[in-house]
Formats: sequence, structure tokens, C-alpha cells
Amino acid sequence: MTKKRARPVIAIDGPAGAGKSTVALKLAQRLGFVLVDTGALYRGVALAARERGIAWTDGVALGNLTATLDLSFEPRADGAPRLIIDGRDRSGEIRTPEISMGASDVSKHPEVRAALLGLQRRLGHDGGVVLEGRDIGTVVFPDAEAKVFLTASDHIRAGRRVQDLTSKGIAADQEKTLAEIRARDTQDSTRAVAPLKPADDAITLDTTQLDIDAVVEHLIALAQAKGA
Ligand code: C5P
Repeated sequence: MTKKRARPVIAIDGPAGAGKSTVALKLAQRLGFVLVDTGALYRGVALAARERGIAWTDGVALGNLTATLDLSFEPRADGAPRLIIDGRDRSGEIRTPEISMGASDVSKHPEVRAALLGLQRRLGHDGGVVLEGRDIGTVVFPDAEAKVFLTASDHIRAGRRVQDLTSKGIAADQEKTLAEIRARDTQDSTRAVAPLKPADDAITLDTTQLDIDAVVEHLIALAQAKGA
């Protein structure tokens, strides 16, 4: 049996643009929890592979690369933690549409997923942590105290992605972004290993009509009921 943690692990899964990052950040800030953006790790692998000329289709080489990378997060009081790869802050470079699809490509490979599993589990081991991703409630922390699956219509999700990219100074087109989100959803939900799906015991929240702050309040109440 798993040892009881002093503070809960909160797992937030769901497709791109469902509001996970915003909700996870606000939740972590309000609860004083550590935030772990697991998608950033897959993005980091895609970026590092591209720089080294390793194809996003080569599972074995990607697995070996992932095992050699020094991936960590640098906490920030005022916003999302920064992704540090081999001592350098790469947070800005991993947010492009190309790296989004690259992250989805590399994340299909069991070698990559296995190489990132230990790190994700170490980061959440002591609890007091919000992890966001695609397989947190199903694979990384199946024993998480609170599991949430956030979703929203693909049009709304594409709109949020466009806003997000535009605010970072990256040009984005609604129709193209919608097509990219659909392609990524299909790839993430149909892969053989750790596909995107709600855990059986997850609470599913559709944020199409819901205000993000209302979602955060709901999750704070849930986390507090679980000992946060
Ligand atoms: O959440 P984000 O959009 O940054 O994730 C990028 C990609 O990384 C996803 O499309 C998915 O393919 C992959 N990913 C994953 N498992 C996770 C987190 C992200 O496969 N836990």
C-alpha cells in the first residue's frame, strides 16, 4: 500500500487549451503548492532533439537523449515556473506551434515516456504539488488524492491558444490553430502508450461555458477536502 502523503497530489489532465495551465498555476499559488507542468518536459525533449538532429520519429535515440538531459523547473513567485534544460532557461523557445506538435510526436514513444516517468514521480513524491499533463491521473500518479480532467470545445480551446500565443508575441491564426489542436488531440488520444483520457475516478469539468476563476474555486474546495 502507498504511504500516505502529508499533503495531497493534485492531478490535472486534459487536451490542449482546456485551461489546465491557467487553472494549475492559480491553484498552486493559492494553495502554496509546487506546480509541475509535465507538458514542458515533453516540449523540452522535442527542442533538444531538434537541436541535435535527432528525428522525432526515432524512439530509441529520443529515449537515450531524454535520459541524458538535465531537466528541472525554476520556481517563480509571479508566474509559471521556468523550464531549465542543462542549466539554460528554455521556457520561451518551447511554446511555438512547431514544438507543440514535436512534443506530441516525441511523447508517443514508450522510451521517452519511461525516461520522464521517474522525474515526474520524484517531483510529486512528497505531495503539496499540482501536476498538469495528459496521463497524470492514469499513469504518473494513479493514487493522486484529487484528479481533474479539464476539457472544452475545440473552437474555444483554439481561441484560447491563439490569445495565449498572441500575448507572447507569437503570430497565430484561428483556423490553423484549430487544425493543429485537432491533429494533436487525435494523436494524443489514440497513441498506444498512456493515451489522453480521464482516469476512472477523475472529476471531468467542461470549461467551454465555465469561468476559469469559478473552476479554480471549485478545485480549491476539492483540494481542501483532500487535506490541502
Ligand atoms: O500540455 P502541453 O500542450 O504543453 O503538452 C505538449 C504535448 O506533450 C502534448 O500534446 C502531449 O502529446 C505531450 N504530453 C504527454 N503527457 C503529459 C504531458 C504532455 O504526452 N503528461
